[in-house]
Amino acid sequence: MIKLPDFITTAPANCARPGTDPDLWHSDNPEDRALAMAICHGCPLQPACGTYATTNDLPGIWGGRTRAQRRGTRPTTEIPTQARDEEWTDENGDTRRPCGTPGAYYQHRRRNETCERCQTAYTTRLETERRAALAEEHAQGGTERGYYIHRRLGEPTCEDCRAAMRLSAAARKTARATQQSTALAA
Ligand code: SF4
Ligand SMILES: [Zn+2]
Ligand SMILES: [Zn+2]
Repeated sequence: MIKLPDFITTAPANCARPGTDPDLWHSDNPEDRALAMAICHGCPLQPACGTYATTNDLPGIWGGRTRAQRRGTRPTTEIPTQARDEEWTDENGDTRRPCGTPGAYYQHRRRNETCERCQTAYTTRLETERRAALAEEHAQGGTERGYYIHRRLGEPTCEDCRAAMRLSAAARKTARATQQSTALAA
């Protein structure tokens, strides 16, 4: 769990209401995230919260938006840059990794530089990692996680992963219904 800034804990934040699960804002589960976003909408702190998180580039949902969504709205001037074969020192005296390495990609990104070689290397690496992860999920006969990996790979989901997804969605629904009826009974 993340430490909340004072303005959120002392003011009437929707997420600070008793009984609200703070982990929703940092969950990997899309349903949890959708729920967190819905709670944010209508929160009186939404604008302040969004600005705070954008300024500090915080992970998780703040002000009703994910980090990727917040980043998308940050004014960025992308600087196209030349790919380098070896380690080099930039105009600020920072040591820069050779292009094509993971470190170089992140160094560019922090500086809003676009480098085609690093971008390609990054995408290729990501895809390889996702394929490997997907193979593991398939070794288990298809899973909910596999379902989302298919989606992230931009490909149709397979039947096994879809079946697993349906099963866990149904299980979550039952769990929620049980939780609600327990809460009502209490
Ligand atoms: S906008 Fe969302 S995260 Fe921010 S204080 Fe409100 S409910 Fe919490
Ligand atoms: Zn590069
Ligand atoms: Zn699959």
